[in-house]
Amino acid sequence: MSKSYALLLHGGAGVLAPRSYDPERMHMRELAEAGKAMLEAGDAALDVVTEIVRRLEASGLYVAGKGASPNKAGRYELDAAIMDGSDRRAGSVAALTGFVSPIHAARAVMETTPHVMLAGRGAESFAGLQELERVESVNDYYTPAAAPDDRAIATGTVGCVALDTSGRLAAATSTGGTLNKLEGRVGDSPILGAGCWADEHVAVSCTGQGEFFLRRATAKDISARMAYGRQSLAEAAAGAIGDIGGMDGEGGVICVDSQGGLAQPFNSPGMKRAAVYPDGRITVEID
Ligand code: ASP
Repeated sequence: MSKSYALLLHGGAGVLAPRSYDPERMHMRELAEAGKAMLEAGDAALDVVTEIVRRLEASGLYVAGKGASPNKAGRYELDAAIMDGSDRRAGSVAALTGFVSPIHAARAVMETTPHVMLAGRGAESFAGLQELERVESVNDYYTPAAAPDDRAIATGTVGCVALDTSGRLAAATSTGGTLNKLEGRVGDSPILGAGCWADEHVAVSCTGQGEFFLRRATAKDISARMAYGRQSLAEAAAGAIGDIGGMDGEGGVICVDSQGGLAQPFNSPGMKRAAVYPDGRITVEID
């Protein structure tokens, strides 16, 4: 049993609205404390990232779960993925409608099917059969953030990465997608290797303009830079975000490696995030 643990969570890249982010800061600190307590108690990284992302989804403070925004057709289509780095088991759902916790649906795909990813109507029927909690009334449940300005794309995905005291890494990402997205649009968040990834080297959750993260396979790229390129975590994460910027894309990543190293680079105007370092220190940052 290794003694080190570490955790990072995010509430999305892009801090665009001219308002106070105190509620998000307080909420992220609460969750960082909760994640730290779970890791100190010896909980598995997979359980920790599931629970933290479930609580991020339920809060309504981010563009995921309760805070998701409708697409151009007025429908709430949500994406999520989860991955256990210790054995590379993974599950994901895309364009899921009608359920409170997309991350629970993704985990159920991982644990109860021979598949990795379910989409659309199939994902919905599956979540129903699993008796996952449904959104009873779409209009009453969701509290979508208004588009913060005239930009076509704004972001607010949530995610969590963790290293547990047994040395296992896990990652989870959940999103309502980008504001004003087309019906059926799927971003990077539920695509393993793009917006979510965990293996024996590193766990990664991305946020930002998903199309760029898809085109660069950013989450897996960070692992590959470390495994094949022998880059440090900091170099790998910064290099991957540099590539996003090189294509005029915006966003950020949170990453934890097998030694408890943390990296959280972004090139967007801010990224809501909190960290638990191996010495137990907690930081919460937005800018
Ligand atoms: N990456 C997400 C997507 O493109 C959006 C976000 O990070 O907020 O769906």
